[in-house]
Amino acid sequence: MTILVWIEQNNGEAVSSCWEVLGKAQELAAQLGTSASALVVGDAIDVIAQEAAGYGAAVYTASSPALARYRLQPYAAVVEQALDASGATAFLTNATLRGGSLAATIACARGGGIAANASDLRVDGGQLIATRSIYSGNILADITFNSSLAVASVRPRSFSMPATGAGGGSIQALPVALDEASIREKITDFRAADTGEVSLTDAKIIVSGGRGVAADPEKGFALVGELADVLGAAMGASRAAVDAGYIPYKHQVGQTGKTVKPDLYIAAGISGAIQHLAGMGNSKVIVAINKDPDAPIFAKASFGIVDDLFTVLPALTEEFKKRLG
Ligand SMILES: Cc1cc2nc3c(=O)[nH]c(=O)nc-3n(C[C@H](O)[C@H](O)[C@H](O)COP(=O)(O)OP(=O)(O)OC[C@H]3O[C@@H](n4cnc5c(N)ncnc54)[C@H](O)[C@@H]3O)c2cc1C
Repeated sequence: MTILVWIEQNNGEAVSSCWEVLGKAQELAAQLGTSASALVVGDAIDVIAQEAAGYGAAVYTASSPALARYRLQPYAAVVEQALDASGATAFLTNATLRGGSLAATIACARGGGIAANASDLRVDGGQLIATRSIYSGNILADITFNSSLAVASVRPRSFSMPATGAGGGSIQALPVALDEASIREKITDFRAADTGEVSLTDAKIIVSGGRGVAADPEKGFALVGELADVLGAAMGASRAAVDAGYIPYKHQVGQTGKTVKPDLYIAAGISGAIQHLAGMGNSKVIVAINKDPDAPIFAKASFGIVDDLFTVLPALTEEFKKRLG
C-alpha cells in the first residue's frame, strides 16, 4: 500500500495541517514498508513543492492557471491522475471543507472506502485503520477498508507537525491538459475574508470563553478578547456559548467545532464536557478558570484558577500587558 497525500494551498501557501497528515503518512508508510508521496495542485506552487520535498516525500505537482483556485472537478481529475501515476492505494487529505469534498469525490469515483473526519490513523496487522469519533465523542470507532483504495480525511491538529527532514524528496510534474470550457465551476469573483483575527486552528495560544460568562456575555467575551489580544492569541468558545448567541460558530472548539492543539489553551467559564475536551484536550498547556473547584476541566488542566472569570481575566490581561510591554 502506497499513500498519496493532498497538500491543500491558498495563494501559494500550504495549509499547515496538510504537513501533519504528510508526516503521519510517512510514519505509516515506514511501518508498511512502502512510501508516501505528496500531491501539490495549483498555479505558482514551486515553493510548496520544495517544502514537501523538504519533508523527504516524493512530490507530484499539477500546475496550471486553471488550477489556481480550488475547484472540485479539475482538482479531482488531477488527483485521479496522481493516483494512477503513483499507484497509491490510500489517499489522505486534511478534513477541511475542500479536503472533505475532495476525499468524498475520489472515494465515489474509485469505489474506495472512506473514513471522513478521522482523528487518528494507524497500522495494525499490515492494514490501515482509521479512528473516527461517533455518538458525540462517546465512542471511538475503528474503520478498516475492504476496498482497493482507502480514503481518509483527517481532522486538523490530530497529529503533530513533522520535523523537516534532510530533504531529498523528488518532484515530478504531471502533464495537465485541462479545457477551461469543460470545467463546470466558474469563479467569477473572489473576496478574502480579512478579519484581522488570528486563525483558531493555527494559533499557538487560544483564550476561550464558555457559559460561565452568562452573567454578562458581552463583557465576558470582551474580557476574553482583551486577554487574547495581549497574548496574540485566537479566541475560542464552547458550544454552549455559541448556542446562546454570545459568539459566532467559527470560534467553537470541540467535537462539532474545531480541533485545536495550541501551546497554551486558557479556558474561562468552561466546565470541560467531553465534547469540548475532544477539540482541545491535546493542547500542550491548559489553564482553567472556573468558580467551581469540582468542574471536570480541572482534571485535564495543567494549571487551575478557582475564581470568578470577571475578576481573573482583567487581572491576567493587566499583568501580561506589564510583562510583555
Ligand atoms: C452532539 C454534541 C456535540 C457537541 N459538541 C460540542 C463542541 O463542539 N464543543 C463544546 O464546547 N461543546 C459541545 N457540546 C456541548 C457540551 O456537551 C457542553 O454542553 C458544553 O461544552 C458546555 O459548555 P460550557 O462548558 O461553556 O457550559 P457549562 O457546562 O454550563 O459550564 C459553564 C462553567 O462555567 C463556570 N462558571 C459559571 N460562572 C462563572 C464565572 N463567573 N467565573 C468562572 N466560572 C464560571 C461553571 O462553574 C461551569 O463549570 C456538544 C454536545 C453534543 C450533544
